[in-house]
Amino acid sequence: MMFGLLSLINAPVAHGWTNQFCAVAGHHSTFSYTDQSYGNVWTTAGERPLRGVYMQVLNNDVVAWQGYASTNTGCTPLLSMNSGTFRLKVWSKGIPSSNNLLEVRDYSGSSPVLELYQVAGLVSASWTYRADPFVTGYLVWKIYAAAAETIYQEPHPDAPTFMFYYEPANESASTKIEFGETVTHIGPTVSREKFTISHELGHQYLMQRTNNFYSNSDYGQYQCTTSSCPVACESSPAANCYHKLTSKENMTAAVDEAWGYFISALTWSSGTSCQMANKVGTGYEAVDCDSGTTSYPTGYLAGTCESCGTTWGDPDCESAGVELDWIRVFWNTNRPCSNHGSISNWLDVLDAVSFFDLHGCNTYQQINMVMTGEPMEGCWDSQVVTQRVRFDYGAPSCEPLCGL
Ligand SMILES: [Zn+2]
Repeated sequence: MMFGLLSLINAPVAHGWTNQFCAVAGHHSTFSYTDQSYGNVWTTAGERPLRGVYMQVLNNDVVAWQGYASTNTGCTPLLSMNSGTFRLKVWSKGIPSSNNLLEVRDYSGSSPVLELYQVAGLVSASWTYRADPFVTGYLVWKIYAAAAETIYQEPHPDAPTFMFYYEPANESASTKIEFGETVTHIGPTVSREKFTISHELGHQYLMQRTNNFYSNSDYGQYQCTTSSCPVACESSPAANCYHKLTSKENMTAAVDEAWGYFISALTWSSGTSCQMANKVGTGYEAVDCDSGTTSYPTGYLAGTCESCGTTWGDPDCESAGVELDWIRVFWNTNRPCSNHGSISNWLDVLDAVSFFDLHGCNTYQQINMVMTGEPMEGCWDSQVVTQRVRFDYGAPSCEPLCGL
């Protein structure tokens, strides 16, 4: 078993110099995404370390060092080397952030870990490996780089393994349980979309933390049956758009999807403003995901899709949700009330929802019940009113079947 070894094998005798090898991805010049213009992170030119990739340094085809690159710099330690012809192999399997293991595999190939690239050259005083988009596997590099950035920005407190399969015959993205693991399948087109890649990783975060509680969300109840999506609030299976940012869905589905968008927004936004790219056809629209705008107003379900009042009795309001509204709830509750950049408090809350049997409650009520005493409680109370996702006014009692 290669992984986990961190040793010097047949290391040459040092004679006068040390060097280190680094793996980096250049964003603008060599590592573009189709939605790269959206969000602030990585929009300035420059190179980002491929943190924690698995690297092998071969000196005249003898392994001189192998192990995980630094999770900060993407570099090997300083190595003492003889001069010679070196090859550097880099695998996608890595640890982008402390204790979080990320793998990108080739679904069509037999190799469990895809060998992405290798280079050969004479060692000089400074030699940096650069991911090259024009070699086989570059789409996989994009998946790795976007997912690694997501985990680096929002490390998962439980340190699971995050798994991506690159699937050339698939033109969509999906996350599901497969062989006992949470796995995301991504096709060539989606592998160019950094927001979508991070969104799918958000599903993995949530599924692993909540024991798959949110993995079977039913979107279908409110879907239209025509071959297009003619109305902003509708989504259509026939048009292969099972859910949209603004479609009315079962409330649990809206929460589940909003979580994925929330993670992608945290990854690709900077500062305190939430910025997202919403895919519309083959292009993208900018979405302000913390404040209402003319195109994407606050309280989308209650105001644009329905005319929701404030008393119990309208099933279209009480059991439904819109992803956009819930993204803003997540964002505006997390940023001011939790430690900036941490998703731990939200994962705690959603995990608690998955633990208790909250039969008969809508998703708002479930979350509200476990929010008591949480650091975010005050912001939650005001956000659910602002975004108009609170639907329990005058509702019959909704009690957990086991203690809370
Ligand atoms: Zn999703």
